[in-house]
Amino acid sequence: MEENQDKIRQKMLKEIENIKNEISALEENTRPIAPAVSLGRLTRMDAIANKGVNEAALNDAQVRLQKLEVALQKLSDNSYGICSKCGAAIPTARLELIPESTTCVNCAT
Ligand SMILES: [Zn+2]
Repeated sequence: MEENQDKIRQKMLKEIENIKNEISALEENTRPIAPAVSLGRLTRMDAIANKGVNEAALNDAQVRLQKLEVALQKLSDNSYGICSKCGAAIPTARLELIPESTTCVNCAT
């Protein structure tokens, strides 16, 4: 179990790093669009639509980052891998797939 948690911790740290990079890239793409700026081939409508897509992706990334940080905290205080709703142990296979899981499969659905 110890060895497993270490593996999961490494995986989470890597994911957190990836997500942080993703967030800074998305933040670049969600800057306000100046009304009179020349956008080349992109029309202003396209730019606004792209901005919406990027904002949704940015929001998802931020939510995931928060969950990963909570899970990492749980690893440190030994409450990781326990379902927050029913208290059952979350199967390792699920944790390997979704390391930020805080509920078992039954409680997640
Ligand atoms: Zn549960």
